[in-house]
Amino acid sequence: MKITRRTAMGALLGTTAAAVGARFNPASAAAGVSGQQAPAFYRSKVGDIEITAISDGYGTFPKIEGFVRNATPEAVSAALAEGFMPTDRVQIPFTTLVVNTGGKLVLIDTGNGDLAAPTSGIWMKNFRAAGFTPDDVDMVVISHFHGDHVNGLRLKDGTAVFPKAEIKVSEPEFKFWMSDDNLAKAPDGLKNNFNVARRVFTPMAKDVTLYNWEKEVAPGITAHAAPGHTPGHTIFSINSGNASFMAVSDITNVPVLFVRNPDWAVMFDQDPDMARATRHRVLDMVSADKMQVGFYHANFPATGFITRDGGRYNLVPAAWKLPV
Ligand SMILES: [Zn+2]
Repeated sequence: MKITRRTAMGALLGTTAAAVGARFNPASAAAGVSGQQAPAFYRSKVGDIEITAISDGYGTFPKIEGFVRNATPEAVSAALAEGFMPTDRVQIPFTTLVVNTGGKLVLIDTGNGDLAAPTSGIWMKNFRAAGFTPDDVDMVVISHFHGDHVNGLRLKDGTAVFPKAEIKVSEPEFKFWMSDDNLAKAPDGLKNNFNVARRVFTPMAKDVTLYNWEKEVAPGITAHAAPGHTPGHTIFSINSGNASFMAVSDITNVPVLFVRNPDWAVMFDQDPDMARATRHRVLDMVSADKMQVGFYHANFPATGFITRDGGRYNLVPAAWKLPV
């Protein structure tokens, strides 16, 4: 039999009618919708290293005006529409990485902790669902000091969340945000960032370890300079055997806007020109090397590959696969 739209529809209708007659009654169709999502963690393998992406949900920036410093709201809306996202606000996902290097369990960034809106603040639930507890973490490595990356280190009441972990932060980032001179000179819009950094780090300032760029921060994990978004903003390559993966942190905010339009500057980029140069350099490198990347602000599980499209780029999501 030749399959046409008409025969396919006929078959479908026949099946449905038979099924309704045989199996369904009104009572069995009355189950409520669950309103629940599955735990959001996702494992990948990089050589012998296992990476677990842990979602902290997403936050919503309530309007598009001002979100991109150098694009009109109309252009931003159009780019969001092209990515099948809401066009009048920006939905910003948060994804941290747990890296099991064999010897150490290393967390890269921490999410929003207990300080976030209802669509976020779900990190700990997802982390535990992935089989981890805070005591399992040997090391926390921080990409930069914005609240969505560091607030998970310390609860609202001041409790440190990872009591056994060594906390590693980039030297330029720590020096910038912990400097009283810089706080005194900072424009009002930046002062809150200083307060976030100090809430989290002042109580542990003497215990943090400062790391430097272009050096290993943990076995198989190397920190690379990516300044601009913040002065000490860092990305991380994860290497095992011939395999590698690049955690690109906040070289872009949501890819649908800033991978597609790498010259656009998100309002959170502290030095927009330096951030733009970093963004181009990293996107160019990972696309040329066909390197798998993990974004902090891409849609979960926030991993894929970058292809070049003239002066723009695309994020191609990686295929779902078992971590073998
Ligand atoms: Zn961020």
